[in-house]
Amino acid sequence: MAFPGVVSMDLKFSRADRSFRDEARAWLNANLPRERRPHSGDAMRQFDLAWQRRQFEGGWAGVSWPEEYGGRGLSLTRQLIWHEEYARADAPDNHLCFVALNHAGPTLIARGTEAQKRDHLSKILRGEVIWCQGFSEPNSGSDLASLRTQARIEGDHLIVNGSKIWTSHGHLSDWQELLVRTDAEAPKHKGISWLICDMKSPGITLRPIEIMTSPNQVHFVQCFYDDVRIPLGNVVGEINDGWNVAMSTLGFERGTAQVRDQIRYAYLVEKMICEAQRRLGSDSPLSNDEIGARLAQLRADMAAARAMTYMVTSRADAGLQDSRSSLMRAMVGDTQQRARRLALDILGPDALENREDDDWVYYYLRSFSITIAAGTSQIQRNIIGERVLGLPR
Ligand SMILES: Cc1cc2nc3c(=O)[nH]c(=O)nc-3n(C[C@H](O)[C@H](O)[C@H](O)COP(=O)(O)OP(=O)(O)OC[C@H]3O[C@@H](n4cnc5c(N)ncnc54)[C@H](O)[C@@H]3O)c2cc1C
Repeated sequence: MAFPGVVSMDLKFSRADRSFRDEARAWLNANLPRERRPHSGDAMRQFDLAWQRRQFEGGWAGVSWPEEYGGRGLSLTRQLIWHEEYARADAPDNHLCFVALNHAGPTLIARGTEAQKRDHLSKILRGEVIWCQGFSEPNSGSDLASLRTQARIEGDHLIVNGSKIWTSHGHLSDWQELLVRTDAEAPKHKGISWLICDMKSPGITLRPIEIMTSPNQVHFVQCFYDDVRIPLGNVVGEINDGWNVAMSTLGFERGTAQVRDQIRYAYLVEKMICEAQRRLGSDSPLSNDEIGARLAQLRADMAAARAMTYMVTSRADAGLQDSRSSLMRAMVGDTQQRARRLALDILGPDALENREDDDWVYYYLRSFSITIAAGTSQIQRNIIGERVLGLPR
């Protein structure tokens, strides 16, 4: 019997999917970079681009991207399998490629012109460019539609003036997905445009922002735009329809982009279970019951998150995109924070050592930012309430 709005899901992997998994696992085993990933600056950029290039050359970049732009044109289920194997192999987190691969690229595939796709997609997959996101402003974070960076049309260009903040890795980027106000008179959601901005354009100034977790490294910059000229051909979607395009971008950022992290954290929980078994004796300041209960809860939550990922992927393979991506984002943020806190409780003072292996304290501090980035957990819950559960505003 068919129920309205209910889509059947296939939660089993086919034989072909399983052999794809074997291939992915074998390639990762043979090709993982041996050197450690640098944590900042140009060395980090070179590392991430080189690793991306190696994946492309091996045929593993853009598993679900269209073939004509350098991808493999396979299903989202295969993309998910690749992410699972990538996390299982503990492959380096090439974070600088995150925006390009996980939301700018998918947005161009969904909403870009043919010329935009040809100009940008294969360069992303080949590891030639880094992208950043210019959405948030000093007074427009959660209420993104209130953004005030302006662009006026002059001939065949837009002239941009204003400022963006919290731009992750903006100083190492070649391109930016930039939201600007192109009609100040229209209702706030209707006067926004989504632009492809060349970060080398004259008139862009970057100011580094120091953060608690890495005082000697730059993660964020604030971007200032002073009469920056952007060709009209760089508008993605229609002019003044950028809000709709941005909703696609955020859907990718909060949904499929979370898959790898979610799987990585499921492995972390398994690692912590082994670590707890090894360490917790009767003289532990923490009772085994308490740690055991928290580990069990996290493992169950990770399994629920994985099931939800399969649901979202299965729906997306069936052509259904919706606000359920916020469920993934909310759950990933919450479980990461609990997993990082638990790791510190299990390791105790040892967490301060062994920094070459895994910087436990750094990742614990960083986990606080996870429920802010890509929309705070309160905003995700608002979206779940209003758009998934249909509750009144
Ligand atoms: C690690 C990290 C990386 C980031 N990278 C980027 C990037 O590359 N590009 C980019 O553009 N931005 C980036 N951001 C910015 C991020 O998107 C914003 O910080 C986020 O959207 C929140 O906006 P805000 O900081 O202005 O907080 P505010 O919007 O001022 O929110 C403050 C508090 O009020 C709560 N709140 C606000 N409105 C509501 C409401 N309606 N209902 C309930 N609670 C509400 C929020 O949940 C929050 O707790 C990044 C942030 C982080 C932490």
